Amino acid sequence: MTGMKKTYQEVFEEVYEEVEYLPKQGTVADYIPELGTVSENRFGVYLASLDGEYAALGDAYEKFSIQSISKVFTFAMAFDVFGGDLWMRVGVEPSGDPFNSLAQLEYENGIPRNPLINAGALVIADFLLSHFEHPREAFLRFLRKLGNNPDIDYNPKVFESEKTFGYRNAALVNLMKSFGNITHPVAEVLDFYFFQCAIEMTCQELATSFLPFANHGVIPHSGERILTASRAKRLNALMLTCGFYDEAGQFSFKVGLPGKSGVGGGIAAVHPDYYAVAVWSPRLNKKGNSYLGMNFLERLTTKTGMSIF
Ligand code: GLN
Repeated sequence: MTGMKKTYQEVFEEVYEEVEYLPKQGTVADYIPELGTVSENRFGVYLASLDGEYAALGDAYEKFSIQSISKVFTFAMAFDVFGGDLWMRVGVEPSGDPFNSLAQLEYENGIPRNPLINAGALVIADFLLSHFEHPREAFLRFLRKLGNNPDIDYNPKVFESEKTFGYRNAALVNLMKSFGNITHPVAEVLDFYFFQCAIEMTCQELATSFLPFANHGVIPHSGERILTASRAKRLNALMLTCGFYDEAGQFSFKVGLPGKSGVGGGIAAVHPDYYAVAVWSPRLNKKGNSYLGMNFLERLTTKTGMSIF
C-alpha cells in the first residue's frame, strides 16, 4: 500500500498493542487431552492479501491443530464433486446450538442443520468416502495445493487422542446412521473425521489456504479454480451464518467477515476481493471460539474500516 493508507502490518501492530493488555480470559480445550498440552499464551496472526501484501505477528509460523476449520476444506472438496446433491442430506441454516449438539438431530430426522457443525461435517466425510478411493491422501493433496506447501500433514497424537475420547462424535454418527443418513461404517467415517481435525497448519498456511475463498474460488498463486464462483459465494455465506456455531451472530456482529473457528484456538476469515487472515490463540470462550482471536479480528476490521458490511 502507498500514500497515507496504513499497511496491514502497521494495523496489526496497533491492534496487538491493544489486545496484549486485555485480561487473559478463556481456557484451552482439554476434552481432547492432547490439545490441552498446548501453551495457553501462544498467539499468532497472519494476513495474506490478494494483491500480494502480507502481515505477520507473533507465532504466525508455528503449527497448531486446525480442528473444525478443516470443515471448510472438506466441504469445499465435496461441494466441487457433488454440488447441490449435498443438500439432500445436510442443510444450510445456522444451528444456534453448540458444535457437538445431538438435540436437533433427533427431531430433524438425522439431517444436520449445516456442514460446519460436527454432525454436518460427518455427513460430508461420508460423501468424500463415497467418491475417493484414498480419501486421506486426496484431502492432504488438496490442502498442500491450497497452502502451497507439500509438508502439510496431520498430528498422529491429536488423532489418537480424539479417537480415544470421541464419544459425542460417535453418538452423532450412530444417530445419523439410524436415520439412514450415513452410508459407510461408523468407524470409517469417524476415522476420516478425526484425521481432518488433526491436520496442523501455521497461521501463514491457513491464511494462504483461505485465499481462494476470498478470490471467487481461484487459487491466486497457481490460477487453478477449486470451486465455481457461485459455489465460493455459497461457501462464504455458510461461513458467515454457521462458522461459529451458536456464536455466528456475535462474530458477524463484531467482526463482519465470513470465517471459521476451531477448538485448537484458530480462526480463519476472508474479506472477499481483499484478503484472508488466520489468527491463533488457544484460550477459548464458553462457545468454543478463540477469545483473543475474535477480539483481534474485531479490532482489525474496525481499525481498517473494512468488513463485508
Ligand atoms: N475435533 C473437534 C470435535 O469434534 C472439533 C470441534 C471444533 O473445533 N469446534 O469435537
